[in-house]
Amino acid sequence: MAKFRKIGILTSGGDAPGMNAAVRAVARKALDEGVEVVGIIGGYSGLINENIIPLTPRSVSNIISRGGTMLYTDRCLEFKTEEGMQKAIATCRAHEIDAIVALGGDGTFRGATDLTNRGIPSVGIPCTIDNDITATDYTIGFDSAMNTTMHMIDCLRDTCVSHARCNVVEVMGRDCGQIALYTALASGAVGAVVPEVPFDEKELIDRISTLARTGKRGFLVVVSEGVLTPDGQKYGEVLAKRIADGTGVETKFARLAHVVRGGSPTLRDRLTATKMGVAAVETLMEGKSNVVICEVDGKIVETDINYALIADRTYKNKLKPGDHDAFAPEQVAEMRALAERRRAEIVEAYDMLAHTSK
Ligand code: ADP
Repeated sequence: MAKFRKIGILTSGGDAPGMNAAVRAVARKALDEGVEVVGIIGGYSGLINENIIPLTPRSVSNIISRGGTMLYTDRCLEFKTEEGMQKAIATCRAHEIDAIVALGGDGTFRGATDLTNRGIPSVGIPCTIDNDITATDYTIGFDSAMNTTMHMIDCLRDTCVSHARCNVVEVMGRDCGQIALYTALASGAVGAVVPEVPFDEKELIDRISTLARTGKRGFLVVVSEGVLTPDGQKYGEVLAKRIADGTGVETKFARLAHVVRGGSPTLRDRLTATKMGVAAVETLMEGKSNVVICEVDGKIVETDINYALIADRTYKNKLKPGDHDAFAPEQVAEMRALAERRRAEIVEAYDMLAHTSK
């Protein structure tokens, strides 16, 4: 069992509902193991600026149900420089922080690897509303963001049906269409446009025209923010105009934007945050580091951060020369199989939408 005197927790990159629940779980579990815990304020910039607070069981009270992050977050470019990194390491030494639990996305995990390589063992917990970390089936915040998105689309449905309108709704997700696709399915949308699957605009416009003629009132189309026109414009707003012109159905456009990042986390996110937070501390206590805590087939597992980052690039077709060199052929095959599985999940959901959006 590894001996830690003090661990630090930080939240970095984009915020996600459930981050607080994870902070609470990490802090309470570590304190229960007799380890001191500090919170690092504002992501990696808190390590550079020595913005550090002690955490006690009471200081993480009443945060399990709150969105955002009590430790605040930041995008800290200085941390990516050698000078910034050295300041961060010096802060860890000065405050006797033996290990770090970093909550965030892939950028945050790169930072955690850099810390581990410089002698501060670090573990990552995947927190992002986009669910765009390939190594894990699920990221903290995804379920809450989808539920908030679904409720907002439900509200638009009421008014769309009343007025016999169409509403194109742009939702977050960056290059990942899962929020758009799953909320389209769950809110009974007539179509979804996501970066991963080719979209047939004419087919949708023809279908809306036919459905409107045959008595359907109210149409919802969910578009992922990551879908752009060839000249780089966000596609959702463009599509709304084309649907209006092509169908004669009055069509509004709504951009939900950051509103779905906030709010109280769902039960699913709170539970996952608690499981992953506890697992992160256990992992460190077992003497392991440089791993990200993942959920795979319903089980909490540890995945090497380097493996997770390259699996991600494999799926996103962003591999750089030599990326696979450090891995055994079986591991590379595993990454490719995982990428296939992720693609198949998206295509399956897309097909399901096509079958049910009549
Ligand atoms: P996310 O973690 O949500 O992907 P970012 O990509 O913005 O968000 O990364 C969060 C922070 O992690 C950055 O602001 C930076 O401080 C740190 N970071 C990102 N990339 C690296 C890297 N290559 N090396 C070290 N730190 C990094």
